[in-house]
Amino acid sequence: MVFGEIVNTIQDLIFPAGSLCPLCGRPGDPGQLCPACLRAWAELGRGMEICPHCGRFGNFSSGAGLCPECEGERPPFVLARGVAPYAGPVRDALHLFKFAGKRELAAPLGALMAALTADHFPCRLFAGAVPVPLHPSREKERRFNQAALLAAAVARELRLPLVDRALLRGRETPSQTSLSRAGRRVNLAGAFLPGEDAPRLRGKTVLLVDDVYTTGATAAECCHTLLEAGVSSVYVVTLATAAIKEQGRQEES
Ligand SMILES: [Zn+2]
Ligand SMILES: [Zn+2]
Repeated sequence: MVFGEIVNTIQDLIFPAGSLCPLCGRPGDPGQLCPACLRAWAELGRGMEICPHCGRFGNFSSGAGLCPECEGERPPFVLARGVAPYAGPVRDALHLFKFAGKRELAAPLGALMAALTADHFPCRLFAGAVPVPLHPSREKERRFNQAALLAAAVARELRLPLVDRALLRGRETPSQTSLSRAGRRVNLAGAFLPGEDAPRLRGKTVLLVDDVYTTGATAAECCHTLLEAGVSSVYVVTLATAAIKEQGRQEES
Protein backbone atom coordinates (compact mmCIF):
# COMPACT_ATOMS: atom_id res chain seq x y z
CA MET A 1 0.00 0.00 0.00
CA VAL A 2 1.52 3.33 -1.00
CA PHE A 3 1.41 6.36 1.27
CA GLY A 4 -1.46 8.03 -0.63
CA GLU A 5 -3.63 4.92 -0.28
CA ILE A 6 -2.89 4.74 3.46
CA VAL A 7 -3.95 8.38 3.85
CA ASN A 8 -7.12 7.68 1.85
CA THR A 9 -7.92 4.64 3.98
CA ILE A 10 -7.42 6.58 7.22
CA GLN A 11 -9.56 9.40 5.83
CA ASP A 12 -12.29 6.89 4.89
CA LEU A 13 -12.26 5.56 8.46
CA ILE A 14 -12.51 9.00 10.02
CA PHE A 15 -14.88 10.48 7.43
CA PRO A 16 -17.02 7.78 5.82
CA ALA A 17 -17.67 8.47 2.10
CA GLY A 18 -21.12 9.95 2.77
CA SER A 19 -19.78 12.65 5.07
CA LEU A 20 -17.44 14.24 2.54
CA CYS A 21 -18.68 17.30 0.68
CA PRO A 22 -19.92 16.13 -2.74
CA LEU A 23 -18.38 19.23 -4.35
CA CYS A 24 -14.94 19.71 -2.79
CA GLY A 25 -14.36 16.48 -0.83
CA ARG A 26 -13.80 18.25 2.49
CA PRO A 27 -15.46 16.79 5.60
CA GLY A 28 -19.00 17.95 6.30
CA ASP A 29 -22.46 16.75 7.20
CA PRO A 30 -23.56 13.64 5.30
CA GLY A 31 -25.15 14.44 1.95
CA GLN A 32 -24.72 18.20 2.25
CA LEU A 33 -22.36 20.81 0.91
CA CYS A 34 -19.64 21.63 3.45
CA PRO A 35 -19.53 24.96 5.35
CA ALA A 36 -16.61 26.17 3.19
CA CYS A 37 -18.58 25.67 -0.04
CA LEU A 38 -21.67 27.30 1.48
CA ARG A 39 -19.56 30.29 2.58
CA ALA A 40 -18.13 30.65 -0.94
CA TRP A 41 -21.65 30.56 -2.36
CA ALA A 42 -22.93 33.15 0.12
CA GLU A 43 -19.94 35.36 -0.70
CA LEU A 44 -21.06 35.57 -4.36
CA GLY A 45 -24.20 37.49 -3.46
CA ARG A 46 -22.65 39.66 -0.77
CA GLY A 47 -23.46 43.36 -1.16
CA MET A 48 -25.90 42.70 -4.01
CA GLU A 49 -29.54 43.63 -3.95
CA ILE A 50 -32.20 41.03 -4.71
CA CYS A 51 -35.15 41.96 -6.92
CA PRO A 52 -38.20 41.42 -4.68
CA HIS A 53 -40.18 39.97 -7.61
CA CYS A 54 -37.85 37.79 -9.71
CA GLY A 55 -35.05 37.28 -7.18
CA ARG A 56 -32.24 38.32 -9.53
CA PHE A 57 -29.11 39.63 -7.89
CA GLY A 58 -27.57 42.95 -8.88
CA ASN A 59 -27.13 46.58 -8.05
CA PHE A 60 -30.20 48.33 -9.35
CA SER A 61 -31.65 50.82 -6.93
CA SER A 62 -35.00 52.02 -8.17
CA GLY A 63 -38.11 53.27 -6.43
CA ALA A 64 -39.57 49.86 -5.56
CA GLY A 65 -36.20 48.10 -5.61
CA LEU A 66 -37.24 46.09 -8.66
CA CYS A 67 -34.67 45.01 -11.25
CA PRO A 68 -34.83 46.76 -14.65
CA GLU A 69 -36.52 43.70 -16.23
CA CYS A 70 -39.38 43.62 -13.69
CA GLU A 71 -39.57 47.41 -13.73
CA GLY A 72 -40.45 47.13 -17.44
CA GLU A 73 -42.91 44.23 -17.26
CA ARG A 74 -43.34 41.93 -14.31
CA PRO A 75 -43.14 38.23 -15.23
CA PRO A 76 -46.42 36.38 -14.55
CA PHE A 77 -45.31 34.33 -11.52
CA VAL A 78 -46.05 35.44 -7.95
CA LEU A 79 -42.38 35.33 -6.88
CA ALA A 80 -39.11 33.72 -8.00
CA ARG A 81 -36.02 33.06 -5.92
CA GLY A 82 -32.64 31.45 -6.56
CA VAL A 83 -30.16 30.15 -3.99
CA ALA A 84 -27.13 32.07 -5.31
CA PRO A 85 -25.87 34.10 -8.29
CA TYR A 86 -24.92 32.02 -11.33
CA ALA A 87 -21.17 32.54 -11.16
CA GLY A 88 -17.92 31.02 -9.88
CA PRO A 89 -18.38 27.94 -7.70
CA VAL A 90 -22.17 27.83 -8.30
CA ARG A 91 -21.66 27.72 -12.04
CA ASP A 92 -18.96 25.03 -11.56
CA ALA A 93 -21.33 22.95 -9.41
CA LEU A 94 -24.09 23.17 -12.02
CA HIS A 95 -21.69 22.18 -14.78
CA LEU A 96 -20.59 19.14 -12.78
CA PHE A 97 -24.23 18.24 -12.22
CA LYS A 98 -25.50 18.86 -15.77
CA PHE A 99 -22.62 18.09 -18.06
CA ALA A 100 -20.29 15.81 -16.06
CA GLY A 101 -23.16 13.55 -15.01
CA LYS A 102 -22.77 14.04 -11.22
CA ARG A 103 -26.42 13.23 -10.61
CA GLU A 104 -25.81 12.63 -6.91
CA LEU A 105 -25.57 16.43 -6.53
CA ALA A 106 -29.35 16.64 -6.99
CA ALA A 107 -30.00 15.84 -3.30
CA PRO A 108 -27.71 18.46 -1.67
CA LEU A 109 -28.55 21.12 -4.28
CA GLY A 110 -32.27 20.34 -3.99
CA ALA A 111 -32.02 20.60 -0.19
CA LEU A 112 -30.71 24.17 -0.52
CA MET A 113 -33.58 25.02 -2.88
CA ALA A 114 -36.11 23.47 -0.49
CA ALA A 115 -34.75 25.53 2.42
CA LEU A 116 -35.00 28.70 0.32
CA THR A 117 -38.57 27.79 -0.68
CA ALA A 118 -39.57 27.16 2.93
CA ASP A 119 -38.06 30.52 3.96
CA HIS A 120 -39.69 32.67 1.26
CA PHE A 121 -42.82 30.96 -0.10
CA PRO A 122 -46.07 29.71 1.48
CA CYS A 123 -45.23 26.00 1.05
CA ARG A 124 -48.51 24.79 2.49
CA LEU A 125 -50.28 26.24 -0.59
CA PHE A 126 -48.34 24.13 -3.09
CA ALA A 127 -50.22 21.33 -4.81
CA GLY A 128 -46.95 20.07 -6.28
CA ALA A 129 -43.46 20.72 -7.61
CA VAL A 130 -43.36 21.03 -11.41
CA PRO A 131 -40.01 20.76 -13.21
CA VAL A 132 -39.27 22.78 -16.35
CA PRO A 133 -39.20 20.06 -19.02
CA LEU A 134 -36.25 19.45 -21.30
CA HIS A 135 -36.87 18.66 -24.94
CA PRO A 136 -36.83 14.84 -25.38
CA SER A 137 -33.87 14.99 -27.79
CA ARG A 138 -31.83 17.06 -25.30
CA GLU A 139 -32.86 14.71 -22.47
CA LYS A 140 -31.78 11.70 -24.55
CA GLU A 141 -28.40 13.30 -25.17
CA ARG A 142 -27.88 14.19 -21.48
CA ARG A 143 -29.72 11.09 -20.22
CA PHE A 144 -31.58 13.09 -17.57
CA ASN A 145 -33.44 16.33 -17.05
CA GLN A 146 -31.56 18.30 -14.39
CA ALA A 147 -34.70 20.29 -13.45
CA ALA A 148 -36.65 17.05 -12.88
CA LEU A 149 -33.94 15.67 -10.57
CA LEU A 150 -33.87 18.95 -8.61
CA ALA A 151 -37.68 19.07 -8.46
CA ALA A 152 -37.76 15.49 -7.12
CA ALA A 153 -35.25 16.43 -4.40
CA VAL A 154 -37.18 19.61 -3.49
CA ALA A 155 -40.48 17.68 -3.43
CA ARG A 156 -38.94 15.02 -1.15
CA GLU A 157 -37.57 17.62 1.28
CA LEU A 158 -40.83 19.59 1.43
CA ARG A 159 -43.09 16.51 1.30
CA LEU A 160 -44.82 17.79 -1.83
CA PRO A 161 -46.07 15.70 -4.73
CA LEU A 162 -43.72 15.73 -7.73
CA VAL A 163 -45.89 16.56 -10.75
CA ASP A 164 -43.55 15.89 -13.62
CA ARG A 165 -46.11 15.61 -16.43
CA ALA A 166 -47.81 18.97 -15.93
CA LEU A 167 -45.63 20.62 -18.56
CA LEU A 168 -44.30 19.08 -21.74
CA ARG A 169 -41.87 20.43 -24.25
CA GLY A 170 -43.42 21.36 -27.59
CA ARG A 171 -41.15 22.17 -30.47
CA GLU A 172 -37.41 22.21 -30.02
CA THR A 173 -36.00 25.70 -29.52
CA PRO A 174 -32.53 26.88 -30.54
CA SER A 175 -30.10 27.86 -27.77
CA GLN A 176 -31.15 31.00 -25.94
CA THR A 177 -27.79 32.34 -24.89
CA SER A 178 -27.12 34.75 -27.76
CA LEU A 179 -30.63 36.17 -27.92
CA SER A 180 -32.01 39.43 -26.58
CA ARG A 181 -34.92 39.38 -24.16
CA ALA A 182 -37.45 39.97 -26.93
CA GLY A 183 -35.68 37.36 -29.08
CA ARG A 184 -35.91 34.79 -26.28
CA ARG A 185 -39.62 35.38 -25.93
CA VAL A 186 -40.21 34.82 -29.66
CA ASN A 187 -37.90 31.80 -29.56
CA LEU A 188 -39.88 30.24 -26.69
CA ALA A 189 -43.41 30.96 -27.93
CA GLY A 190 -45.19 27.59 -28.06
CA ALA A 191 -42.17 25.77 -26.59
CA PHE A 192 -44.23 24.33 -23.71
CA LEU A 193 -47.56 22.51 -23.67
CA PRO A 194 -49.76 21.39 -20.80
CA GLY A 195 -49.24 17.68 -20.07
CA GLU A 196 -51.61 15.01 -18.78
CA ASP A 197 -51.07 16.06 -15.14
CA ALA A 198 -52.09 19.69 -15.82
CA PRO A 199 -55.87 19.20 -15.28
CA ARG A 200 -55.37 18.10 -11.68
CA LEU A 201 -53.57 21.37 -10.93
CA ARG A 202 -56.56 23.49 -12.01
CA GLY A 203 -57.26 26.18 -9.42
CA LYS A 204 -54.10 25.20 -7.50
CA THR A 205 -50.82 26.91 -6.62
CA VAL A 206 -47.63 25.23 -7.84
CA LEU A 207 -43.89 25.48 -7.41
CA LEU A 208 -42.02 25.59 -10.73
CA VAL A 209 -38.45 24.24 -10.45
CA ASP A 210 -35.49 24.89 -12.75
CA ASP A 211 -31.71 24.90 -12.42
CA VAL A 212 -30.96 28.46 -13.60
CA TYR A 213 -32.98 31.65 -13.99
CA THR A 214 -31.29 33.71 -16.69
CA THR A 215 -33.59 36.35 -18.19
CA GLY A 216 -36.71 34.69 -16.85
CA ALA A 217 -38.06 33.99 -20.35
CA THR A 218 -38.27 30.22 -19.73
CA ALA A 219 -39.94 30.63 -16.32
CA ALA A 220 -42.38 33.19 -17.79
CA GLU A 221 -43.29 30.92 -20.71
CA CYS A 222 -43.83 27.87 -18.43
CA CYS A 223 -45.88 30.07 -16.16
CA HIS A 224 -48.08 31.29 -19.05
CA THR A 225 -48.68 27.69 -20.12
CA LEU A 226 -49.64 26.61 -16.59
CA LEU A 227 -51.93 29.63 -16.05
CA GLU A 228 -53.62 29.00 -19.41
CA ALA A 229 -54.19 25.40 -18.30
CA GLY A 230 -56.08 26.70 -15.25
CA VAL A 231 -53.36 26.75 -12.57
CA SER A 232 -54.17 29.67 -10.26
CA SER A 233 -50.66 30.81 -9.35
CA VAL A 234 -47.02 29.87 -9.82
CA TYR A 235 -43.93 30.41 -7.67
CA VAL A 236 -40.47 29.70 -9.09
CA VAL A 237 -37.38 28.33 -7.37
CA THR A 238 -34.00 27.82 -9.04
CA LEU A 239 -30.57 26.90 -7.80
CA ALA A 240 -28.87 29.84 -9.54
CA THR A 241 -30.02 33.22 -10.75
CA ALA A 242 -28.04 35.22 -13.30
CA ALA A 243 -26.83 38.47 -11.81
CA ILE A 244 -27.65 41.76 -13.47
CA LYS A 245 -24.24 43.37 -13.78
CA GLU A 246 -25.31 46.77 -14.97
CA GLN A 247 -28.53 48.10 -16.31
CA GLY A 248 -29.42 46.13 -19.40
CA ARG A 249 -26.40 43.83 -19.27
CA GLN A 250 -26.49 40.40 -17.78
CA GLU A 251 -24.25 37.49 -17.22
CA GLU A 252 -24.65 34.89 -19.94
CA SER A 253 -25.45 31.34 -19.03
ZN1 LIG B 1 -17.35 21.63 -0.06
ZN1 LIG C 1 -36.80 41.35 -11.20
